[in-house]
Amino acid sequence: MKKEKRFSKKEYHEAKNSHINLDTSFINYLVASQTAYPMKKRPDRNNLPEGTVPCHYCPGKCCRYFALPIDTPESWKEYDYMRWFLLHDRATVFVDDGTWYLLVHTKCKHLDDRTNLCGIYETRPDICREYSSNKCEYEDHYVYDQYFELPEQVEEYAEAVLGTKRKREAT
Ligand code: SF4
Ligand code: SF4
Repeated sequence: MKKEKRFSKKEYHEAKNSHINLDTSFINYLVASQTAYPMKKRPDRNNLPEGTVPCHYCPGKCCRYFALPIDTPESWKEYDYMRWFLLHDRATVFVDDGTWYLLVHTKCKHLDDRTNLCGIYETRPDICREYSSNKCEYEDHYVYDQYFELPEQVEEYAEAVLGTKRKREAT
């Protein structure tokens, strides 16, 4: 399922100009996160108080999920794997720039609940080091090319793309 790591988190959160599907469930999740972890009023990133960075005003959005590239589904069997992903709590699938990703909405164990900052900053993984707050999901307007939350959406999409109904064999 998993390909080589060939992405940076900032790349797949850039807004797209076409085929826009608003990521409402993730936004709802983030809103819930902000309710659970109240934060300071969020200033525009271009107008931050001196000596601060966006992370000081963010609920730690980039630390509340992980995503992995997956093979582009091409058969019913592969779409069925996607259905299986989406039968799990907090799992979604999105497509960005033609690449498919499994997205799991789960908080990093080291995100500090009190500050919404990294609790292991000095030893955080490379992927966290390489992710810049200069270009991130601090704002709420990022979108994906496609976004799947429900197994039924995958089945409908597969029917449209493959042009056939799925055959379920009696077992
Ligand atoms: S890098 Fe961006 S999304 Fe992540 S905590 Fe900082 S401001 Fe928030
Ligand atoms: S290690 Fe730190 S920066 Fe990386 S996801 Fe966890 S809390 Fe965020």
